[in-house]
Amino acid sequence: MAEDSNTRNRIESLRELVRYHNRRYYVEDAPEIGDAEYDTLYKQLETLEGEHPELVTPDSPTQRVGDEPLEGFEQVRHAIPMLSLGNARKLEDLNDWDARVRRLLGEDEELENLRYVTELKIDGLAVSLRYENGSLVRGATRGNGTIGEDVTVNLKTVRSIPEKLSDSPPAVLEARGEVYIPLDRFEEFNKLQEAEAKRPYANPRNLAAGSIRQLDPRITAARPLTVFLYGVGEGGEGYESHSAMLDALKSYGLRVNPYKTHDDIESVVKECEYWTRERESLGYQIDGVVVKVDSREQQRALGSVAKAPRWAIAYKFEPLAARTRLLDIIVNVGRTGALTPQAMLAPVNVGGVTISRATLHNEDYIKEKGVLVGDVVVVERAGDVIPQVVRAVAEERAGDEYPFEMPKNCPVCGEPASRPEGEAVTRCVNARCPAQALEHIIHWSTKAAMDIEGLGEKVATKLFDLGLIKDAADIYELRSEQLEPLEGFAKKSAENLVHAIERSKEQPFPRVLYALGIRHVGSVTAGLIAERFGGEDLLRGAEGGASVEQLAEIDGIGDVVAQAVVDYFALEDNQKLVKRLMAMGLSFERVPEGTEQGPLAGKRVVITGTLSRPRSYFVEKLEEAGGTFTSSVSKNTDYVLAGEDAGSKLERANSLGVPVLDEATFEDLIP
Ligand code: NAD
Repeated sequence: MAEDSNTRNRIESLRELVRYHNRRYYVEDAPEIGDAEYDTLYKQLETLEGEHPELVTPDSPTQRVGDEPLEGFEQVRHAIPMLSLGNARKLEDLNDWDARVRRLLGEDEELENLRYVTELKIDGLAVSLRYENGSLVRGATRGNGTIGEDVTVNLKTVRSIPEKLSDSPPAVLEARGEVYIPLDRFEEFNKLQEAEAKRPYANPRNLAAGSIRQLDPRITAARPLTVFLYGVGEGGEGYESHSAMLDALKSYGLRVNPYKTHDDIESVVKECEYWTRERESLGYQIDGVVVKVDSREQQRALGSVAKAPRWAIAYKFEPLAARTRLLDIIVNVGRTGALTPQAMLAPVNVGGVTISRATLHNEDYIKEKGVLVGDVVVVERAGDVIPQVVRAVAEERAGDEYPFEMPKNCPVCGEPASRPEGEAVTRCVNARCPAQALEHIIHWSTKAAMDIEGLGEKVATKLFDLGLIKDAADIYELRSEQLEPLEGFAKKSAENLVHAIERSKEQPFPRVLYALGIRHVGSVTAGLIAERFGGEDLLRGAEGGASVEQLAEIDGIGDVVAQAVVDYFALEDNQKLVKRLMAMGLSFERVPEGTEQGPLAGKRVVITGTLSRPRSYFVEKLEEAGGTFTSSVSKNTDYVLAGEDAGSKLERANSLGVPVLDEATFEDLIP
């Protein structure tokens, strides 16, 4: 039993971590960790889920491509999903893949005609370009594979994307490819950034992705973007092979990366070996070689698994590596309070980039790798520019190296840091720590928390930067006279914001508890806690209030969550904040059982089809009502909210007998 809940917690905490990094990577274009480390986390999750298939949920990052599309763009539904690719880390994996392809095609009389195509795997952002009667009508990102962002105006600024096609393309042609930035242009751009004291981008991929997803197309136009096309979604039926399709794309005037065909896997392996040696000779970044079955008929016979086609695989390069000395380990505090040890290195050249810092992730990582301060270490750069220390060269020790110790206190605010059992990360849980205060304020005003209209990320950041708010309680001291003179505000909007802030004081305790941003305390958990304990109980903690044991007695709350709550309320700064909020009249009253769980508490809901508002609106409403949004329909799904033109998900719901709601019925269910 205990082991069960441990595994469950471990899986949940890995999912949370992978989701967080997905967001940083796919949505914010600002990854905090390198790809190799991300891949390790992802693999751990995949392995655990493989060992416990009963714990796999459709919303797990292993079951989904990318991340949710950004708000601010219209959403585009891909008629044919834009999938990811399975990958081969070692050359032997390619042989295994070839054997699997042959086995699956075993029945196919044409097996002797099996041919492969190899293309370079460009490290950029996947886009879809829809041409109707030869004219570009829409450009979109991959998004979560099913729904992407409409970035037509931005893609129209990319010079290598033609607005009109030549030759005679199909009436509808949805070409797919990768938008990227050549290396020399990337370096030029970063130099300019530095000259203007702006933060340089970690790698060309992030710059490309960030440039395409700009709300102002003039910014995109000024970025050195270009494109390579490598496939067709809609309109691809007529081509008998992948290579014929690429040739056709070329004849329409689209920019296609050179490709090669191969009669056997040995020749594919040679090609991969070649590019492993020669990749630095290209003017753009590639992170591997993509291998595809050429025949479209064989592709169809092979089909796809959840996230990727079976007929293609990406051979990913080993990261670039070098040796240098680890001079010191410093500790950074991230926006979520994570204390991350960082290696200070003697500068070294790794694949053309000088590196003097590298991530060490967390305490366990350093212990596992046996790295001591003063060691000679191996540094790797994996697919991007964020380097990491992968091992120590113990043979070269002089004897004066010493082990790293994680500080007991947050290096920014000085409050005790905590590392909950079963977690790898040490965190500062002080809500007023300057390193994370802004993040807390932004979370505070979100819809599912205090729902303060007009205090979104942009406004909160501005007020924070101006020093007008330093924590959540300061929000309640804002006056409209302070806001009015600020750019973007007028008398009316300033007053509206102050009213919205005042109104938020009426939110019940579960919302307030959720808004505090305590680790692991989502809105449902906050509801459960608020039914048992009020703010005073939590403040008193073990002294006659809520202890870890008592919190863990609540059905649905485990030790990890209980400990996080107790740690939070034990900190003096947090206590001060809570007391101030209490004095300001916010509710810290326990609520009767069943009240704040929301009408859809614990319900798993799939949303599909075209609805009258963006899908994010319905997801938000659903989550506010205590429900969970999941992406695929299974027998565990409680409801499917279906809009117009709902396709396979609706069919599946009907065949499984899952209740289907229309928009009006859904609106009736929620508060
Ligand atoms: P992927 O990048 O490994 O492969 C799929 C993608 O390859 C396609 O969607 C397409 O965009 C691209 N591609 C490039 N050339 C292609 C070609 N010739 N043919 C077909 N596709 C081509 O898969 P993914 O799901 O987009 O992302 C996973 C990658 O992102 C991993 O490498 C992972 O390390 C990285 N990642 C890193 C972080 C982080 O925090 N560092 C977070 C999330 C993901």
